[in-house]
Amino acid sequence: MNLDSIKIIINEKLPALKVDDIQGNIVVYPQDSEEISSFIKLCNHKAIQIIPIGSGSQIIGAKQPQVYLSTRKMNRVIELAKNDLTVSVEGGISIKELADILRQENFLLPISYHEKPSSTIGGLLARDAGGIEQYAYGTINDYLLGLEFVTPTGELIKTGGKTVKNVTGYDFTRLFAKSWGTLGVIVRATFKLIPMPEEKALFITEAASVDDLTQAMKEVLSKRFALVSFMGMSAKMLGLTEDSKYASFFVLAGSKIAVEHQLQVLKSIVDIKGLITGRDNVDAYLEKLFSSKGSVSKIRFGTDRRSLLDLLPRNLDELLNNNSMEIILDGGNGMVELSTSSDFNEAKKMITEKLQDFKMCFTDNRAPLDILYNRMKKELDPNLIMYPHNPRFMEVS
Ligand SMILES: Cc1cc2nc3c(=O)[nH]c(=O)nc-3n(C[C@H](O)[C@H](O)[C@H](O)COP(=O)(O)OP(=O)(O)OC[C@H]3O[C@@H](n4cnc5c(N)ncnc54)[C@H](O)[C@@H]3O)c2cc1C
Repeated sequence: MNLDSIKIIINEKLPALKVDDIQGNIVVYPQDSEEISSFIKLCNHKAIQIIPIGSGSQIIGAKQPQVYLSTRKMNRVIELAKNDLTVSVEGGISIKELADILRQENFLLPISYHEKPSSTIGGLLARDAGGIEQYAYGTINDYLLGLEFVTPTGELIKTGGKTVKNVTGYDFTRLFAKSWGTLGVIVRATFKLIPMPEEKALFITEAASVDDLTQAMKEVLSKRFALVSFMGMSAKMLGLTEDSKYASFFVLAGSKIAVEHQLQVLKSIVDIKGLITGRDNVDAYLEKLFSSKGSVSKIRFGTDRRSLLDLLPRNLDELLNNNSMEIILDGGNGMVELSTSSDFNEAKKMITEKLQDFKMCFTDNRAPLDILYNRMKKELDPNLIMYPHNPRFMEVS
């Protein structure tokens, strides 16, 4: 069925639904879960394929033209239960909008917004986002208590609840939440919150080689202080013009007294080249740093350790120098990102050959669970309407 016919059907059956034509694609903007349910029932009945989107920043493998269901009109905080430390929101609220509301009340949903402030809660849950404070706080689904979700056949289901101990039996909440838009649409979510740390401090160290960089990181980690984030990278990515090739930043969070004490101790073991104190100042610095990182193509590979400090290959410096590459070591999630100013595909090919020595793997390799996924997908989405071409999963036919 072509898009013009689809538009006619939508206008005829659901005249109140807002529909836009964006670059030859249809985008619908439901206002509530009932409208989502009616739209999906219609699509299921007519076998119209759709993709759920939030801000639409991370859609992969979409066929063109396409029908998108955007949650951006559903961006309210439903309830902030201050004594329960929970918040219930609609799936289309952005992480920055929510963080600003929570900050006024001294609460934190600890998924950093610095990298992509416009990402929606639905999109972040669907991809189980972590972020730069993942080392301490984990990923967004670690805070999820309950979900409202519309299935590919249009039923509105509720899983979990508003208390911390809810899940008896299978954990459907996370199965649906983390399904990358392939098992339905996240309409509402309830999260547990933590109190906002009183103070944050960010300090920077420099290093001449990757070995020195990881050594300094290990020394800081050995103190078992309240680090929420640490990353190493090519020095110019931190805007440093000094001679050192590499630099790291570390973020401490906690009470003012604890952070000040920890900083004093650390000053005696590492050479601190830059220091930012004050929670808002640190967050503003990180937001600026990550928004200027840009969208350069990156080669990402990872380890099965949270921190990768003992696993980096010996000859990494040489490899980076010879290939004009820049590096980010994400201390919190065992991931290495390389970007290059020379030929990206050549660099990726070369790294692929080296991966065997690195004992690492590309992070975009698919998990070997395709058979289970296929069975589940066919059961829950019999007409295969919900994001069937998402390359994260094997295509079902
Ligand atoms: C702090 C932070 C940490 C991040 N960490 C990670 C990470 O660890 N791993 C990772 O893969 N990405 C990560 N990202 C990227 C993140 O996944 C995307 O920024 C986010 O998904 C984009 O949100 P969006 O609203 O633009 O989603 P979109 O680009 O619109 O959609 C992204 C995916 O989510 C699905 N989706 C969107 N809304 C819904 C909904 N309401 N119901 C069901 N499915 C929906 C879409 O179908 C698509 O598969 C991170 C981003 C940030 C800001």
